[in-house]
Amino acid sequence: MREALAEAQRAWDLGEVPVGAVVVKDGVVIARGFNQPIAGHDPTAHAEIVAMRAAAQALGNYRLPGCELYVTLEPCVMCSGAMMHARLAKLVYGARDPKTGAAGSVVDLFASEQLNHHTAAAGGLLEEECGNLLKAFFASRRAAARAARVARDNEAERAAIVAARLAGGDTGG
Ligand SMILES: [Zn+2]
Repeated sequence: MREALAEAQRAWDLGEVPVGAVVVKDGVVIARGFNQPIAGHDPTAHAEIVAMRAAAQALGNYRLPGCELYVTLEPCVMCSGAMMHARLAKLVYGARDPKTGAAGSVVDLFASEQLNHHTAAAGGLLEEECGNLLKAFFASRRAAARAARVARDNEAERAAIVAARLAGGDTGG
């Protein structure tokens, strides 16, 4: 999960929501991925999908039997579905996602016998650390938006003062 957190940091560095994933086989990391839908203009470029694509390429197999995927955030419906198609052996996630989590928070696709015969799921590994990274990211984005607003307001105020001076024949000299 520490490796997945390092991937999440790479997403942050590019301005993407910091979620990271790694695929492990026989105790070795065979693929990594981080969330990158904005840069790639790709709504499917979640960390898990990126990592699974890389793992499948590395193994030369469209399925990932015997593989474990570690991801910093509970996967969404799309990623959970892809894990089942890949016949991934095990999912381990960090923070829970109360808005889109499909491994128990909103729905639990992994508990569905009709859908899933292959992938075991476990959550809460380094949960706090994984969640704190996301919280810090969104807090910094809010702070940046606030700073931009203040800068805009200051600019507008200055423009109004200049306009008033000009209207009054006062050029400020
Ligand atoms: Zn996803």
